[in-house]
Amino acid sequence: MRISSLIAGKRHLAGLAIITVMTLVALGFGVKTGLGTHDVKVSAWDREISITTRAATVADVLAAVNISLSPGDLVQPSLDTAVEDGMEIKVERARPVFVKFRGRGFPVFTAEKRVSQILSIAGIEPEPDDVVYPGLDEELSQDPTIRVAKVTYGEVTEEQEIAYDTQKREDSSLEVGLTRMFKNGTTGLLQVIYQVKYEDGVEVLREEKSRTVVREPSPLVLLVGSLQQVSRGGQDIRFERALEVTATAYCPCAKCCGPTAVGMTSTGVPAAKGVIAVDPRVIPLGARVYVDGYGEALAADVGSAIKGNRIDVCFDTHEEAWAWGVKKTKVYILPQ
Ligand SMILES: [Zn+2]
Repeated sequence: MRISSLIAGKRHLAGLAIITVMTLVALGFGVKTGLGTHDVKVSAWDREISITTRAATVADVLAAVNISLSPGDLVQPSLDTAVEDGMEIKVERARPVFVKFRGRGFPVFTAEKRVSQILSIAGIEPEPDDVVYPGLDEELSQDPTIRVAKVTYGEVTEEQEIAYDTQKREDSSLEVGLTRMFKNGTTGLLQVIYQVKYEDGVEVLREEKSRTVVREPSPLVLLVGSLQQVSRGGQDIRFERALEVTATAYCPCAKCCGPTAVGMTSTGVPAAKGVIAVDPRVIPLGARVYVDGYGEALAADVGSAIKGNRIDVCFDTHEEAWAWGVKKTKVYILPQ
């Protein structure tokens, strides 16, 4: 009995001692015995610090390692968290994120990367119709820009011209080689309606909804000559083709052909009545022709000013040339 009561007494003493130590720790005297220090790791942007500290909260730890925070900086775990052994504290610096909301832009300083979080910090709540770039669930990449745009739809009506065709119609009263406009063409009108999508008023998509012909085009009708024979002075003239020309008169004199004129054409035929000068791309040199108002002639000369549907008609005298002057007329190319 005696022994057992002694042991019981010792146990009692030991229990008392433990309670005393715990009380001291609770009262803050534990520091003296080395209790109450924690090994903590802090990572802040480019540095990593490992310390043994008696700091009580995350905020105290940061103060102890001289890390001061700016608005928007992100600390994990939060500043008021009690320090534990082996705790890892992570500090991320805020950076400016440029938020553009319905055309208005402003910076938000935050270390957050998730688009929805940043918009929430900026106090922006996109409406269901709004479009967000990058998407709400995405994280910002290198480009620190978020755009929230209002999406609207509208209709745009456009009118387009419809080109007209050319219809050719043979006309036996018109000489071969000549054409006449019988009826001018008119363009048609097409109405196209588009459904247009806008983001902040800027068109981003256009889809055709309908197209309606408001007015059909009307073709141009061209008469194409098929007449191969004409009558001049009671004589029938058969020809291969006719063309309309501007004919200028001249004679072999110095006034018409210059002071050095020798009265000779470029082909060696003497310049006289019955000789005309032509553009060889239009009337071949050597061609026999009939010129209305002038008579039969030979295409025997060229001239630097004679281009296209122009000819020079030669007369024997200056007076005759003067009387002709410049006339619009027809040239019939005769069978060679
Ligand atoms: Zn002359």
